[in-house]
Amino acid sequence: KIVRLQMSSESGKVVTMRDVHNLAYQTKKEHQNSRNDLEEVIKILKEEFGCSVTVNHNENDEFLGMFFQDKSMKLDFANFPEILFLDATFKLNELRLPAYIFLVEDSMGQSEVVGVALMVNETKENLTWLIETFKKENPADGLRVVMADKDINERNRITEILNVPTLICLFHALKTFKRELSNLSLNSVTKENAKIIFQNLCYAQSKEAFDDFQAEFMAIECPKLRQYYVKNWKPISNEWVKCFKAEYGNFLNSTNNRLESINSKLKSVIGHRSSLEEFVRDFFTVLSSLRADRDLKVANEFLKARIETPSDPNIQAIRSHLTSYSADFVCEELSAIGKTDVRNSTIDSCRCHFYNSMRLPCRHIFLSRSIAKCDPLFDKSLCENRWSKKYFVEHQRLFTKQVVSSGTVTSITSPSRPLKSLNQNERYRTANNVCKSLASLASETGGTIFNERISQLKALEEIWLNGEEFRILTLTKSSQTNVVKSDPKPI
Ligand SMILES: [Zn+2]
Repeated sequence: KIVRLQMSSESGKVVTMRDVHNLAYQTKKEHQNSRNDLEEVIKILKEEFGCSVTVNHNENDEFLGMFFQDKSMKLDFANFPEILFLDATFKLNELRLPAYIFLVEDSMGQSEVVGVALMVNETKENLTWLIETFKKENPADGLRVVMADKDINERNRITEILNVPTLICLFHALKTFKRELSNLSLNSVTKENAKIIFQNLCYAQSKEAFDDFQAEFMAIECPKLRQYYVKNWKPISNEWVKCFKAEYGNFLNSTNNRLESINSKLKSVIGHRSSLEEFVRDFFTVLSSLRADRDLKVANEFLKARIETPSDPNIQAIRSHLTSYSADFVCEELSAIGKTDVRNSTIDSCRCHFYNSMRLPCRHIFLSRSIAKCDPLFDKSLCENRWSKKYFVEHQRLFTKQVVSSGTVTSITSPSRPLKSLNQNERYRTANNVCKSLASLASETGGTIFNERISQLKALEEIWLNGEEFRILTLTKSSQTNVVKSDPKPI
């Protein structure tokens, strides 16, 4: 049978999934002309991209989800496992399967995708399967903490299975609080006040500051607000308050912005009407370009000799031991030595936000060492090993050569100009996604609107055939579009 999805209303996610995937998974017939053939997709993942693929299905053999990793992803997690970013992103395929992306941070502060999953639903059972599969495939001894959204289902299961805390992205904490606040029907003054204090709580840099803000929050004359806070936020303050989050060594990440950035790059190339096969191929096109980008930065860092040697022997030692990304932080801390005083720091440890979070020497440690007349001020043992150049050289794919990169090397540096350096095949695929979407949109209309749209498309084709360019102005009155050749004049 041909597996074909009937695009239905926005809420039709789960219902359509089951039918489509049931067919795709159970039957092996008529591969030609079929879209979203799961077996074919798995074959592509394994044979073309060298992935390991794990599929989840229920007792009726209905597809529930799949998790895949290529060799580089597996190695990147094994080498840089401390903080794992996890989030679901939508609108990357016509089946509306949310794509879960797993991400880590390397020694140069760069993001690396370490796993991908497509899920039919986000039930407790399915998410449990996903996290357990990730764990089984990736021994996670070095994992310290996970960063996810407040909205993500079954956060507790992530913590239970991986045995590490699951932090809440700062922006999602603020967003969730604001949304839930509006359900409490408070007066506007109380609401505004609560919002400001909650924001201060989120950003609290120390336990003392947090305690002060919390006392202020609890002093707001509104029992249901206090009740809401005590029930929903107080017990999990370690997951959303800046200074408590830092204690897990989150490398100064208080948000899931790294994932948002990858997601927007994926969305700039992968159409929401992609089949699963198109999703997989386009995903690896984006991934290989992101990897090429990062490898280039790494090559620049290690292959270019530094022209000037710093005169300060401490800075010299910092720069020679650490990657430039981490060295920049430490040099800044060293230079701030005169702007601080000794706070709970010794010559080799501190309780401040920076030290907890980065596991690199802070200004307070440098000051303590200076007072204790330690010579030299900087010592390698103050730094977590993962930030050293030596560690990076031994574990980055560019040097280890354990991974053969697949696909083409292109460069995507910003979401606004992602298509600039794609090769012709990739440009064709990208354009094809848009055209398919156009065809679909046009076909959903009828009568005069359909005729109008087709004539507009033909006009467009004509212009390009003649080697001319055009700009589009939206007609607000009739919601149709008007194609204007070359430079548009305001109408
Ligand atoms: Zn410190």
